[in-house]
Amino acid sequence: MRMDMQRLKIDIDGLVQGVGFRPFVAQLASRLGLTGTVGNDGRGVVIAVQGDPAVLDRFLAALQTEAPPLARIEGLQITTLPLQPEKSFVILASSGAGAKVAAIAPDAHLCNDCLAEMLDPRDRRYHYPFINCTNCGPRFSIITGIPYDRPQTTMAEFPLCPACAAEYRDPASRRYHAQPIACPACGPQLSLLSFAGIPLAGDPLAEAIALLQAGKIVAIKGLGGYHLAVDAENDEAVARLRRRKRRDEKPLALMVPSLAEAHVLAQISPAEARLLSSVERPIVLLAAKDHPTLSPGIAPRNRYLGMMLPYTPLHHLLLALGGFTALVMTSGNHSDAPIAADDAQALNELGSIADAFLLHNRRIHTRIDDSIARVLADKLLLLRRARGYVPRAVLLPVTAPPILALGGELKNTLCLTRDDRAYLSQHLGDLSNLESYAGHVAMSAHLQSLLELHPSVVAHDLHPDYQTTRLAESLPGVQRIAVQHHHAHLASCLAENGESGPALGVIFDGLGYGADGTMWGGEFLLGGLDGFRRVGYFTPTPMPGGDLATREPWRMALAYLHQAYGRDYPRLPFLQEIARRDEQLIVTMVEKGLHAPLSSSCGRLFDAVAALLGLRNRVSYEGQAAIELEMVAAIDDYPPYPFTLDNVADAIVFAPQMMIRALVADLVAGLPIAQISARFHATLVAVVSEICCRVRKETGINTIALSGGVFQNCLLTEAVIARLEKEDFIVLTHSLVPPNDGGLSLGQAAVAAARLQNPD
Ligand code: ZN
Ligand code: ZN
Ligand code: FE
Repeated sequence: MRMDMQRLKIDIDGLVQGVGFRPFVAQLASRLGLTGTVGNDGRGVVIAVQGDPAVLDRFLAALQTEAPPLARIEGLQITTLPLQPEKSFVILASSGAGAKVAAIAPDAHLCNDCLAEMLDPRDRRYHYPFINCTNCGPRFSIITGIPYDRPQTTMAEFPLCPACAAEYRDPASRRYHAQPIACPACGPQLSLLSFAGIPLAGDPLAEAIALLQAGKIVAIKGLGGYHLAVDAENDEAVARLRRRKRRDEKPLALMVPSLAEAHVLAQISPAEARLLSSVERPIVLLAAKDHPTLSPGIAPRNRYLGMMLPYTPLHHLLLALGGFTALVMTSGNHSDAPIAADDAQALNELGSIADAFLLHNRRIHTRIDDSIARVLADKLLLLRRARGYVPRAVLLPVTAPPILALGGELKNTLCLTRDDRAYLSQHLGDLSNLESYAGHVAMSAHLQSLLELHPSVVAHDLHPDYQTTRLAESLPGVQRIAVQHHHAHLASCLAENGESGPALGVIFDGLGYGADGTMWGGEFLLGGLDGFRRVGYFTPTPMPGGDLATREPWRMALAYLHQAYGRDYPRLPFLQEIARRDEQLIVTMVEKGLHAPLSSSCGRLFDAVAALLGLRNRVSYEGQAAIELEMVAAIDDYPPYPFTLDNVADAIVFAPQMMIRALVADLVAGLPIAQISARFHATLVAVVSEICCRVRKETGINTIALSGGVFQNCLLTEAVIARLEKEDFIVLTHSLVPPNDGGLSLGQAAVAAARLQNPD
């Protein structure tokens, strides 16, 4: 033992258990000639390591850069220890006791080592669709309880064969302590059933491929749910899938065999390529290329394709052996219902859609959709946070006692906090759907038990009619904290950026219940996690028919026309398909304020402009009109339309009348709608910039946070960021948490945490 040596104790927390971290540390230390121990404790991993200080530095650096793919280091504490006489580096057995608090890994893509084994005819797992190892495979979706151990997963039903058991126990094996380990002798098996649930003869995989090649619809059991698959080049099959699923126009996701194939179908930047092939394997929205063989029914009126790479061994086999350019892989559900949870439900609900079922006998304990992401301003932006990302923690800028935040109504997620960690659930859908609501309640209980958190503080939206508000009110003995919808959006953006404010939140959204009881959605909120002041908003405009105005954008178009011109509004072409009687009814509702609640929503303004331009009078899915308005916009620079900003009380109000009149004049003059849409987008950019500058002048606040569903619009968001940065603002945007209502639960949790820290 040399006296210039050093011994360090390194406490690591984060996602470091059940992901091969201890063997990795042992191998790293041995490679560098260091001695010591590594073991698990209640929070994570504890390392004692001894050697030359320069080598210890290399060890510390490599801990971060070479960690196993599923590991996430969230905190690292280093203290020095007295030197020990020792000769080697050893892995200490798990105490078992503390392993509860440590994080659970998300489901992960099949790793390259397993892929190579699966394609090797000499390997005992050749073409075995459930191959996995310490670095890959199912996790969150199969975990039934804690601690994370095989008996507490849905793999408990599959006793290990001697060969698998030996790998499981061998620290030198890639499958050391890999809980879902399996092989053809001991693990799950495939089966193929008819639409009526009758087993079909032959090899399930080969027969399923033959059906897909023949243009049939096959329901495929995956990691967190069921997909409905068809050959993406078979137009007739795609049309049949849409008809049976009653999904008229919403884009369908594609699975392509490899990155090379993806490049053939879409324009892919290096950042997008990295995202596509990341272990999380989300669906990535990519600019579509003209592709003569792909069915035009996949993403009508959309310039993007949602694409993902295979993420389970079964996907790899299907695509490789089937020789498909791409498979449509859309969630196995009826429109708006959650994805099916088990084989019986899938057969029952999807039997009228699918021609056959490719199933397996590993149960899905937690259903979880595919995540949806895009690269925006060179950064990851999650639009739907689910498989691959959940249940990874988001770090909060505040520490508080445990909080349960219930989220919003649409695109619901919930969130649990421990200290400064926020654990968001996966996307749980629209809670006005009874099944989705039941899913929310079940997920809340499951996450609380996995994380051993039983919060007595519940945060929820201010909206009195949200299911989650009623749920909060029904919970006995808890402290309830109601959070205004757009304040939660602001807080969500601040929190994921590690900020507490103050900042100016530019919140462009659909609808949320305002602090004054009206519906908000085009908001400039000045504040931080602890509170806000509404310093700007869009002119409140009637929504004739309330919720119906969301589904029928022509109503909003008429309301804006009437606002800009009064009764003498020009009768634009979009009104031709509206019965004269209905048109007059809307005018009356607007004038008399009958069932026409006022809203400052930016999303509804997008809808109105889309209808004015003749894009569509009715939508078949949320946000459709706004998305199509973005899709038709010319990419070149166009000047904004004129607009006015009024001072009302202490706030700046964007009045769109002048813009609407200029836009209508362009339309009447026959200008291309591509140009008009581009000018509309440019106007909003100018409005944002002008209001931000005015607020900065008054308050000195230079940080802008962009949130709300409208900021899923790439064109608008990139232009707003560019303009604000040119004006020397610091711009905070979303990344790991969606700007839409999927991010509300995080914002509610952050606001509640701040209020608990500083009660007033
Ligand atoms: Zn693997
Ligand atoms: Zn086995
Ligand atoms: Fe919202």
